[in-house]
Amino acid sequence: MSTVVTGIAELVTNEPGLGDGLLGVVADAAVVVDGGAIAWVGPARWAPDADARVDVGGRAVLPGFVDSHSHLVFAGDRAAEFEARMAGTPYDGGGIASTVAATRAAPDDALRAALARLVREMRAQGTTTVEVKSGYGLTVAEEARALRLAGEVTTETTFLGAHVVPPEYTGRPDDYVDLVTGPMLAACAPLARWIDVFCEPASPHAFDGDAARAVLTAGRNAGLELRVHANQLSAGPGVRLAVELGAASADHCTHLTDADVDALAGGGTVATLLPGVEFATRSPYPDARRLLDAGVPVALATDCNPGSCFTSSMPFCIALAVREMRMTPAEAVRAATAGGAAALRRTDVGRVAVGARADLVVLDAPSYRHLAYRPGVPLARSLEP
Ligand SMILES: [Zn+2]
Repeated sequence: MSTVVTGIAELVTNEPGLGDGLLGVVADAAVVVDGGAIAWVGPARWAPDADARVDVGGRAVLPGFVDSHSHLVFAGDRAAEFEARMAGTPYDGGGIASTVAATRAAPDDALRAALARLVREMRAQGTTTVEVKSGYGLTVAEEARALRLAGEVTTETTFLGAHVVPPEYTGRPDDYVDLVTGPMLAACAPLARWIDVFCEPASPHAFDGDAARAVLTAGRNAGLELRVHANQLSAGPGVRLAVELGAASADHCTHLTDADVDALAGGGTVATLLPGVEFATRSPYPDARRLLDAGVPVALATDCNPGSCFTSSMPFCIALAVREMRMTPAEAVRAATAGGAAALRRTDVGRVAVGARADLVVLDAPSYRHLAYRPGVPLARSLEP
């Protein structure tokens, strides 16, 4: 059954050939959806007939947000850590151990229910594709469990056994890397599309460049594609390692050298910015303009997690990107849709074009600009014709 969506004051397609500007905006547009895919896009006056009709009443319609970085399989929360941080305690990743303890102690059903609640929360704010990482189990069985649960809600599952060195391996990080690249990888590779590592020599809990290289290389040899937590707390080796190894995305990119920017500009790796983290850790934001002006492909994602950033809202990240990182509203919307798709190497999401998935978001507003212009207002919802 086909449905024609009309009354679209402004349609963001992300296809410059279909409309105006960076976002390929079509005014007074219509979209025909058939069998979960987009069958036609264009000006409403040329729209073909369909079996059903949905009129969105002069609102803006966008591709659904692609949140390419989240950590949704966990138990408990860290509100007290947040409160202490706002009072001056710096963030160094050490609080992750408390989430690991709570997650290990939680039964499957509790983790599944918490995960489902967060995915519903995202969807209610317009996110239609989400990547979900493991990383709060940190044993062979627990990491495999997290990935099985993540696989119930998304195909974009990421093995993050190398999130932090767990407490039982304190002082023996090399032994933990051997576990991650050996039995843990063997158990988790069949359950994941991606492998990731928290590469951060400035954190006593995370992994240096050599360890990160070992993890990523082993993952690639096991058939996984690569993404990296890179340069969050310092200008470490993560970004250049990501580009060298052909990772789809280097995430955070908060502290970059000129060589890092050059590497990103010349490589095929997306820079995924996570400004909710800087907001929630009260840290300097990444220099998005430097990346955009250098021609680096940029994505925006939430990094939704219980420690450094517990927002599930892509509209909030868009507002931060515009207000705090000086991205234009169009750049921010593109980064949250097509940018996220590129960071996941997907061409079927993040755009409104014939053949793409019919993942549409409607705003309770006439223009995409309202996402940044009206921060904190629940404007976006996914449209399911
Ligand atoms: Zn993260």
